[in-house]
Order: sequence, then C-alpha cells, then structure tokens
Amino acid sequence: MYRAGRSVYLNLTNRCSSACEFCLREWAEGVYGAELWLDREPELEEVTQAIELAFLEGPADEVVFCGFGEPTMRLDLVLAVTEWLRLRRIRSRLDTNGHGELLHPDVDVPAALAAAGLDAVTVSLNAATPEEYGRVCRPVFAKSHRAVLRFAERCIAHGIETTLTAVDHPGADLAAVAATATALGAGFRARGYAAPPARAVAEKGDR
Ligand code: SF4
Repeated sequence: MYRAGRSVYLNLTNRCSSACEFCLREWAEGVYGAELWLDREPELEEVTQAIELAFLEGPADEVVFCGFGEPTMRLDLVLAVTEWLRLRRIRSRLDTNGHGELLHPDVDVPAALAAAGLDAVTVSLNAATPEEYGRVCRPVFAKSHRAVLRFAERCIAHGIETTLTAVDHPGADLAAVAATATALGAGFRARGYAAPPARAVAEKGDR
C-alpha cells in the first residue's frame, strides 16, 4: 500500500500477463518512495487493515488497485476488497492491463466488478493497433488488443467510469489511442514515461 496525491494504492501482486517495454518493473524498486517488490502476496485481512491504517493517517479520495503487477491476476481479492470499500462508501478504481477476461475466461469480469461496486477502471491500451500493441506490451495472450478493447467496452456498458491510457514513451501515437478511446465512449489519459537509468539500459543491451 502506498499513497500518491489524494489516492491510496494497493499492490496485490507482482505478476503480470504483459511485459511492456516501458514497464518500471524492469529497472525500478517502486514508485513514490515505496518499495513494491513483494516477499509474498497479501491476503484480504492484510489489505483491509492496510486501508484502515491509511485512512487513519489522513483522508483520501479513492483506493486504487494498481501494481507492480496486474491486479486481476488476483480477481477474487480485487472483488472482495471492492465490496469492502463499497460498504464503507469509499471510491474504488482498478488500474488494469485489461486482460481480466483472458485470465479468467469463465468469469464475466466487467459484470463481476460492477456487481462488487467498482466505481472506475483505468485500462492501459498503449497502442491503437494490434501490431503496435504486440510490439510494445508483449502480452502472453494472442489477440490481446481486441480483448482489451472489449473489456473496456463492457466496463462502460456496466456503468463503470472507464478511461483508456497510453504511456507517452518514445514513438507512442497518443492521438491514435485517444481517438480509439473516444470512439469507444471512454475517457483518455496519457501517462508519463519514466526512462530507465543509463546503467540499466547498458545492462539490458549487454544481454
Ligand atoms: S501491464 Fe503494467 S505491470 Fe504489466 S508489464 Fe505492462 S506496465 Fe508492467
């Protein structure tokens, strides 16, 4: 758990179904001064206790399921914590790569999130075409780009406030991703790009 601005962020897992070329996990220990590599993944009671402690330290506008990792890898926990937040009238937001239904093909994930009371979802699209998506996000699943768009569409249909995002990395076509978001009826937000330190680039180049 860590804070940034008026938000409380939950780090439920370090696992992910993508390997984005700009992912901070490639070279950073965390964000906003928080170390995000987990010794083990937290359980429900630990997460809710951490949220309670966070709110004792000061008010927040929302609780966000985030990373280092893809939160829907732990869908059951996301749903349980979302319900816990809803009962306490705390706004919840899921920050996701949109692979929820690829990870859980037997679950209607947007419907389950809406039923649990999720207020908002921020879906990392990062590319306007499947080819670019495959090159930049390097997903483990085939046809992920279409699945991410469908996930966002279905979140919108279930009344979840939906925003598509793209990291402003070198070569990114933010205008094309923004146009895709608009066509879908979603919001759009560009995310800042954090370049790896020169040493990390050199080490990667050596491999
Ligand atoms: S989806 Fe997020 S956590 Fe996963 S590889 Fe991409 S940037 Fe990293």
